[in-house]
Amino acid sequence: LFNSFKHKDLNKNTNTNSHPNNEIENRVDSVLSLMHLNEKIGQLVQYSGKWNATGPSSTNGDQYKLEKLKKGEVGSMLNISSVASIRETQKIVMEHSRLKIPLVFAYDVIHGYKTIFPIPLGESASWDLDIIKKSAMIAAKETAASGIQWTFAPMIDVSRDARWGRIMEGAGEDTYLNSVIGVARIKGFQGDDLALPHTIAACAKHFAGYGLGESGKDYNTVNIGEHELHNVVLPPFKAATDAGVATVMNAFNEIDGIPATANKMLQRDILKGDWNWNGLVVSDWGSIGEMKAHGFAKDKKHAAELALNAGSDMDMESYAYEAHLADLLQEHKITIEQLDDAVKRVLRLKFQLGLFDDPYKYCDVDREKNEVYTKENLEVSRDVAKKSIVLLKNETKLLPLSKTIKSIAVIGPLADSKDTPLGNWRAKGTYNSAVSLLEGVKNSLDKNTKVYYEKGVDLTIPTVKPGDNQFLHPLEFNTTDVSGISVAVEVAKKSEVVLLAIGENAYQTGEGRSQTNIGFLGKQQELLEAVYNVNKNVVIVLMNGRPMDLSWSADNIPSILECWFLGSESGNAISDVLFGDYNPSGKLPVSFPRHVGQEPLYYNQKNTGRPYNRSHVTYSGYRDSPKSALYPFGFGLSYTTFEYNNLKLDQTTITKTGELNASVDVTNSGQIDGEEVIQLYIRDLVGSITRPVKELKGFKKIMIKAGETQTITFKINAETLQFYTANKIWEVEPGAFNIWIGGSSIADLKTKFEVTE
Ligand code: BGC
Repeated sequence: LFNSFKHKDLNKNTNTNSHPNNEIENRVDSVLSLMHLNEKIGQLVQYSGKWNATGPSSTNGDQYKLEKLKKGEVGSMLNISSVASIRETQKIVMEHSRLKIPLVFAYDVIHGYKTIFPIPLGESASWDLDIIKKSAMIAAKETAASGIQWTFAPMIDVSRDARWGRIMEGAGEDTYLNSVIGVARIKGFQGDDLALPHTIAACAKHFAGYGLGESGKDYNTVNIGEHELHNVVLPPFKAATDAGVATVMNAFNEIDGIPATANKMLQRDILKGDWNWNGLVVSDWGSIGEMKAHGFAKDKKHAAELALNAGSDMDMESYAYEAHLADLLQEHKITIEQLDDAVKRVLRLKFQLGLFDDPYKYCDVDREKNEVYTKENLEVSRDVAKKSIVLLKNETKLLPLSKTIKSIAVIGPLADSKDTPLGNWRAKGTYNSAVSLLEGVKNSLDKNTKVYYEKGVDLTIPTVKPGDNQFLHPLEFNTTDVSGISVAVEVAKKSEVVLLAIGENAYQTGEGRSQTNIGFLGKQQELLEAVYNVNKNVVIVLMNGRPMDLSWSADNIPSILECWFLGSESGNAISDVLFGDYNPSGKLPVSFPRHVGQEPLYYNQKNTGRPYNRSHVTYSGYRDSPKSALYPFGFGLSYTTFEYNNLKLDQTTITKTGELNASVDVTNSGQIDGEEVIQLYIRDLVGSITRPVKELKGFKKIMIKAGETQTITFKINAETLQFYTANKIWEVEPGAFNIWIGGSSIADLKTKFEVTE
């Protein structure tokens, strides 16, 4: 039977999900026609299996899954990693099941597989689409070489709340940035052809609205209106489906009263309807079953009915479809057409990946040995990492440091951490594999520099076992031991410069890790102030997965370097920037607040009717804080300076279908070469739906030599200007527009133009 599905050419040109490949469609239909009901339902089941090369263990859970695998009643497995265990699991299906439909194996490859890249939020700060695509390509290569064909990435949820733990997983607060970065990641993972051995299927998640949960609490209710949904949340998903993303994951949250998992309007009407996308929708982990807790389904059976009706194709770990779809079909609560459509989406993916051609094609032990965690991959990781660093402050020009410096103190709980720089959501088996800051600094300097190291304080309480700390309780970060501060102060006193590595533990951000306190937990602030009291030449090397409250540091400390969680090569990449081997070029993909009370904070907000503070009675911001960000979206310094002049439009009036060019002269007015991210923002002054005060609509990252001026041009047309209007369509509304071009969202070089009918 298996041979009858075999067809090499089936796997050509499969990467465009809105244009089905006819040969694949024929094969999918022919497999479907052979399937029994239990086998069809089985294809919609995804289990997690954490077993090793010996296969399922003797526990009841594993034995249950083993029986289902043998019967061909499982479509996909997640969380199995390594060629040996994947081969073993695939073998169970190939040797025992009637139709031998291969499994597809999934894993959360969020920022690299074994070679770890910066966390997605950090990498997004590079604003470098080529390098972002390249990191996804390498992640795909390592993942595929390890037997896995499907990653649950990229997360393209617009996220505007620093308290939300998962803000680390995406491209931040802006819709446009999430769209273009999401597409770069998808293209990196999927390449030109999913059937090639080094490409994997991507998954755009979480559909939809998950990043806008009320008050930054994870999984929380999303109450946004239709226009916010279409203008802010959905565009990155539309861009992802246009780019041919193979799969989409739905979300834990409800949106306007309907859980995303049972949201027919989102999944059937928009995604599979209006967008005509024929990929696979996988539920989020247990999200079908969780609709009972939402108060939307009365039991699991009802949940299965709601989810399938709404277009959720695959059930990840709810055990709802396998238990109830057959009965629901008999009771006419779901239709065979709905069921078949879902099954076809699973089969299609498997054909696209070439799994019917060879179910073991991703199971090559030599490939796993030779292509994972290679020197070349680590070099790219270092390159991405240095480009992701954002220089937030450098007032006294303390940076870059000279390599002939006589003495340097590397202080802080993260100064010699080889684990925290890997961030959350990294593959198992990577513990402690990063280059620490201390190691990176030593690699950059010769023996003539005295390098001191002191931890000062801990980030977690002593009972927390290293390597085992995924599930820390926030209280476990509230250390009280200050006994190490005095020795840290001593080394600070005798050093020319202090590098202070502070911030967050890797597991303070990620799923289920929202926090109300976005300052320095534990005794880090005490350490910072004590060190600063004896040595003013302090550089904060910040490692973190969310925007933090840096108010005190911004007022006092001369240099602040935002280093996120940079991955395997963290320490080397940071040293590249510290010692001037690389001129920092990153820009913030999220606003950094002055105080957590400003959250959610984002630059592309709407005006109220009282945007200005007219008097103490009509004060529209906060009485105790400016409204603005401490470090705004798009902001980041360089070791050189850039000047913007001559913002010009080639026309000041265009029609709705017309086009104009906006240009600006950017001069590198400093002493060294540097890259700048030139950003284009617009404002539609009057709309049938109120428009944000500013919206990013384009950017270019370019290298400008010291003293050189370059003229940068952006095209502005319907694609730039349209939005989802009161007519419920995407269109350009005639009227006046403002336009800004500059080096951040507070760029002040501004002009205007008019759009006519
Ligand atoms: C997360 C998803 C993830 C899935 C599988 C869920 O808890 O929300 O983003 O892909 O688990 O690990």
